[in-house]
Amino acid sequence: MSRMELNKRQDEILEIVKADGPITGEQIAERLSLTRATIRPDLAILTMAGFLDARPRVGYFYSGKKKDQHLTENMMNMKVRDFQSIPVVVKESLSVYDAITQMFLEDVGTLIVVDDQSRLTGILSRKDLLRTAIGGTDLEKIPVHMIMTRMPNIAYCRKNEALVHVAKVLIERQIDALPVVEETEEGLSVIGRITKTNITSAFLSLAENHDL
Ligand code: ADP
Repeated sequence: MSRMELNKRQDEILEIVKADGPITGEQIAERLSLTRATIRPDLAILTMAGFLDARPRVGYFYSGKKKDQHLTENMMNMKVRDFQSIPVVVKESLSVYDAITQMFLEDVGTLIVVDDQSRLTGILSRKDLLRTAIGGTDLEKIPVHMIMTRMPNIAYCRKNEALVHVAKVLIERQIDALPVVEETEEGLSVIGRITKTNITSAFLSLAENHDL
C-alpha cells in the first residue's frame, strides 16, 4: 500500500486531537470554524486509516499508532472465518427448476453443488440458471450437474485465509462468491461461503467506531 497523504485540513484535525483529545466532532469543527458536516469525511478517513479512534459519547482521540500501518494491519487481520456465511448447498441431481426455487427461498445469488458424500462438485450462479431458463427446455428434467461450473474450475478458499485475498480472487475471476472448504479424506467438504456482501460488511467494520 502506498503511503497515505493527508490533506491540510486532516493534518489540522490530527493536531487538534493530539493536543486536546478526547474531543467531539462538534468541538473540532468549531475550532476550525467549519460545520460538523464539512469535516465528516475527514474524520471518516482519519478513523478508517487508524490515525484516530472514536468512541460514542466520548469523542475522538489520537490512536498513537504509526500512521499508515493501522489500516493495512486491520485489513490483513480480517479472516474468512470471521465473516463467512453458512453455505447454501444443493445436490447434483436437483432439477434446474428446483434450484431456481431454492435460490429464491434461501435469498442467495450462488448455490454450491455437492455430491452424495457432501463433497464440493460445482457452483451455480443466477445467470447459469437464467441461461437455461430461456433455453426453452423442460427445467424439471435437467439436473443441475448438466449446467453448473464444475471442479476443478471452482475457486474456493479456506477459513484461515485473509479476506483481502478472497476479495482479489472475486475481482480477478469476476465472480460473486467462493465456497469455504475443509480438506477431508474423501475430498473437499463445504463449511461456508464468502460473498461480495460479506466483503462489504468487512469493509464497514473497519469504520465501526465511527459515527457514520
Ligand atoms: P452471475 O452469473 O449471477 O453474474 P457470477 O459472476 O458469480 O454470477 O458467476 C459467473 C460465472 O462464474 C457462472 O457461470 C458461475 O457458475 C461461475 N462461478 C461462480 N462462482 C464461481 C467460483 N467460485 N468458481 C468458479 N466459477 C464460479
